[in-house]
Amino acid sequence: MSKLEITVLYFAAASTATGLTEQYIALPAPQYPLSSLSGLLVSLHPDVGLDKILQSSQWSINAEMVDNIEESPEISQKSRGACRMSSSLGSVLVFLTGVLFVFFYLVTHRRPQRSRLTLTVDMEKGANSENKQLPAFTARRLTQTTFLIVEWDDIFNEHPFIYAKVVPSADTILIMDTGCGGATHNPEIGLKSLRKFIETVDIPDNDGKPLNEGGKMKYIVVESHCHYDHILGVEPFAADSPILGSSHSPGFVSPENFPANSECKSHGIQPPTYELTLVPHLHEITSSAGSSLGLTVLHTPGHTPDELALWDADEKMLYVGDTLYEDDPIIFPSGGSLPVWFSTMDQLIELVETHPDSENVMINCGHATSLRPALEVLRTCKTFMENVVSGKEPLKRRYLRRGTWSVEFREDKGRFSLICPERLVLEARGEVVV
Ligand SMILES: [Zn+2]
Repeated sequence: MSKLEITVLYFAAASTATGLTEQYIALPAPQYPLSSLSGLLVSLHPDVGLDKILQSSQWSINAEMVDNIEESPEISQKSRGACRMSSSLGSVLVFLTGVLFVFFYLVTHRRPQRSRLTLTVDMEKGANSENKQLPAFTARRLTQTTFLIVEWDDIFNEHPFIYAKVVPSADTILIMDTGCGGATHNPEIGLKSLRKFIETVDIPDNDGKPLNEGGKMKYIVVESHCHYDHILGVEPFAADSPILGSSHSPGFVSPENFPANSECKSHGIQPPTYELTLVPHLHEITSSAGSSLGLTVLHTPGHTPDELALWDADEKMLYVGDTLYEDDPIIFPSGGSLPVWFSTMDQLIELVETHPDSENVMINCGHATSLRPALEVLRTCKTFMENVVSGKEPLKRRYLRRGTWSVEFREDKGRFSLICPERLVLEARGEVVV
């Protein structure tokens, strides 16, 4: 099974309400009921009245009207095939009629190289004989040592990317980020602990064995930054393993600021309890016995002050957390900074450029993007942000988000987009913000 991705084209009232004409969406499950789609769209565009517009609209699939949305079919691989055959455009999947027209068509027609389409391995086979519960995670191999783990149906719709570097010679498995903690609305999912997934679920790409069978190897956990969707699975590791974070801005992750800066507070989530070990820029990560894991910590503030990256020069892999990714909006919180982000981008670009095999260095992000050419992704994303700051990239939307005036910019071809407090853009333009 592969995760299904669609593009929504917004017209008329929907375009006015969302401020968008087009948006990529990864559906939370390979089989997705049409009846859930309204809620998903509204959750992506809260407080703009989209729920009322959708209520007054009527759905149809492949040009056939749907009388009762609750009885409608799922959007799935099957409907994808059907739409390919039945649509004159070759890609129209679903549309609404009335004042609102929404067309869905498959990203695969336009961007077949997108890594997300191949992330979801056969999850039924991923459960071993003792544990038939469907896991909240999937895993696939990226390199000789490293796996990408995806939390594929979390209640926050974040679908975080978690990376595991397995180093048996150091008796250690390093985990970068721990995801959303397994919380899901999907009743099929029974295995929600990331640690249990790593220790018990057979992975086809790992010779059919769990990544750390029986928990034999020790753990080192690195958090790319303290946002809730990167830390909520940390507690099962914290009892016996070091949890590393950036020492760039200790105040940002201090106990008094952590609930707000992790965004746990704004989401009404109890912040996890764990001890964070702050490490400096250029820190070389070693096992508890002192063996190198081949990873260097880079302080990369911008998205947040505590954002960090991991650099694996031997495997030509750069892990950048939320500093950037493709296709989903890059979201800066109020504690972010565009000028600082540009400095970080220059640092990362220079790092990759000076690698002897720079063109083959791959970038891996906290969402959406993995195993993509680092230099091209970094440079293109930087150019997009420069266009935002210079005014060349037109504003798509200005709206109140959690009581703050926020702005959205998005390339017409949809690859890079930005959502952030308006103040961050004005500051980057050198305009005085009162
Ligand atoms: Zn983040």
